[in-house]
Amino acid sequence: MRLTENFGCNVFNDNVMKNTLPGEVYVSLRRTIDCGAPFDPAIAATVANAMKDWALSKGATHYTHWFQPLTGLTAEKHDSFLQPAGDRAILQLSGRDLIVGEPDASSFPSGGTRATSAARGYTAWDPTSPAFVKEGTLYIPTVFVSYTGETLDKKAPLLKSMTALDIQARRLLSLFGIKCERVLSTVGPEQEYFLIDEKVFERREDLMLTGRTLFGARATRGQELEDHYFSALKPRIAAYMHDLDETLWRYGIFAKTKHNEVAPAQHELAPVFSTTNIAVDQNQLTMELMQKVAKRHGLVCLLHEKPFEGVNGSGKHNNWSLSTDTGLNLLDPGEDPEREPRFLLILACIIAAVDRYQGILRASVASAGNDHRLGADEAPPAIVSVYLGDQLGALVESIATGGKYVPKKPVPGSIGVPSSPIFPIDTTDRNRTSPFAFTGNKFELRMLGSSASVADPNIVLNTIVAQAFSEAVEALGGVQNLESACKEYTEKLFKAHARIIFNFNGYGPDWEQEAARRGLLNLKTTDKAALEFFKPENIAVFVRQGVFSEKEVVARANIMLETYAKTVCIEARTMVKMARRQIFPAVNRYLEELLQVIEEKRILNENLPSDADMLVAKTLAGQNEALMRAAEKLEEDFSSLPEGAKEGAEAVSDVIIADMGALRAVADAMEPLCSTAHWPFPTYNEILYSVR
Ligand code: ADP
Ligand code: MG
Repeated sequence: MRLTENFGCNVFNDNVMKNTLPGEVYVSLRRTIDCGAPFDPAIAATVANAMKDWALSKGATHYTHWFQPLTGLTAEKHDSFLQPAGDRAILQLSGRDLIVGEPDASSFPSGGTRATSAARGYTAWDPTSPAFVKEGTLYIPTVFVSYTGETLDKKAPLLKSMTALDIQARRLLSLFGIKCERVLSTVGPEQEYFLIDEKVFERREDLMLTGRTLFGARATRGQELEDHYFSALKPRIAAYMHDLDETLWRYGIFAKTKHNEVAPAQHELAPVFSTTNIAVDQNQLTMELMQKVAKRHGLVCLLHEKPFEGVNGSGKHNNWSLSTDTGLNLLDPGEDPEREPRFLLILACIIAAVDRYQGILRASVASAGNDHRLGADEAPPAIVSVYLGDQLGALVESIATGGKYVPKKPVPGSIGVPSSPIFPIDTTDRNRTSPFAFTGNKFELRMLGSSASVADPNIVLNTIVAQAFSEAVEALGGVQNLESACKEYTEKLFKAHARIIFNFNGYGPDWEQEAARRGLLNLKTTDKAALEFFKPENIAVFVRQGVFSEKEVVARANIMLETYAKTVCIEARTMVKMARRQIFPAVNRYLEELLQVIEEKRILNENLPSDADMLVAKTLAGQNEALMRAAEKLEEDFSSLPEGAKEGAEAVSDVIIADMGALRAVADAMEPLCSTAHWPFPTYNEILYSVR
């Protein structure tokens, strides 16, 4: 009972709107939210006032325009509801306050779209994502644009991409006589994370500054026993997850599934899917609350893609589908997909879009953190491909090759024990290695990094699919015989884009070669992936669908490159500091002790062998020397990076990453030789098993 009562209690949701807004205002606002009807400015003051009164009843004193700048995080600046009225104070949120804000937002990345001297940026309310109260402040979701109209955030282009997809999908559906008010893309992001004790976290400068360990020999026990995956929850973890669920529910976030993941200390959370726009906002809020709730439990939640070497990193699975406002899921193949021309056409369009724009889809998930995962045999490879499963795979192959298709019927499952219930078995198995897998009635893009904003890949997905739909409509609109034209067009797409379909093991050594033979891109690092955004044909798709101007795409790509280089350089500087100020002196202190022991043994008895002491001392002395040399080389290299976003990022990828690897290798080789008492920070064993 309490569970459902508290659900969404912090949200200005439909129920609150219905209860606090006059009938006609409510209807008008709902038409904007549900059907994308233009917002009527005449209702702004009433809505703002209702929102303010509701927020005050929840203990709020302030409001904020909550936005998503190109840092990938969220931003907020709080204003109090207090307004002077003579010598008194009144509480106010005007219609204008609700609709527009103007933070002096000159310090956010703009990729050159805005000079610091031209600092004006505007936040504008997004009525389609509900406002909420958190920690005494009313949060109003907003987009963020510059004085000259360029978008400076992730929400505005996401909304534009959703609009493009809505328009094109409705055009496509109308070919089949289907009328609806809206087609929405839906997203359910599964979120992976690590939990460690805050005591070990606080003793690791690398974790605190970069979110990942830059040093650390492998744990003596990793994930090889596969005993953490889905295992029983430890009491502290269970308490955290419970607290997190209850917190998320209060914000109207349908946290649904939770479990232990593959690596020790790794876990996962999945919400029920929602409209893309809301899913993105809620995922941002979820990531923030995951970290805040962890604090209450003496834990730290790590969202970095690769906090630890040698065990799996964390990703996010972006489950994506399309449905109409009437509840029709456009990716539902039905009982007999062979006889569903509309489904097959939509499928063909998506496959064609993913093949043609594989470069920007890959680039949309690229980051310094995610470079550690993609292609590292734990996450899908950096090569984009599509998995369709047995049933659809066979069907599409038969269409593309003109071969025969034998439908596979679902068979009931049973373990052969009479008392055990019969259960339905899917017609398709799973393929964990595929970057873009069809899973029943949705696609699952599995390439996202755990800390990333879900907006980026969805902007790309929506845009490229909208483009493919618009081309289909152009080809099929007004044809005499839709059935045969549609069949022919679908067949043409399947044939032309067959290379992107790969139903086998994406981790296998042969796939890279096979993919190269097929002409698929294999962009392993961010500096290479980001270049896809500069290609004219890729810029063109954003421009044609009204999602970005050319200037905006280029600005974003530059920011991506700069962020990549800056992130790696922060890591490099942190490494140099830890090497010089922590590891080097610690090893020297241990060496001093060893030398004293050797000396004492010699005095005690000249014949007493001290080979072990000597051997360790010699090895460590040599390695410690090498450590300082490696640190010096790294420092020299990052101090002399070339100017320019592309050149800088390329040098970081080619030189700095290798230097960091070399420095780490020396330190990690010393760690198992150095005494526990002397090693200057917690080791992997201590960190990964810090929560008991
Ligand atoms: P799995 O078998 O991968 O666990 P689930 O059905 O549990 O699949 O879904 C995983 C995620 O996919 C959840 O977040 C779920 O809400 C989401 N999901 C399910 N259906 C859709 C859909 N139509 N559109 C978007 N996401 C969906
Ligand atoms: Mg999944």
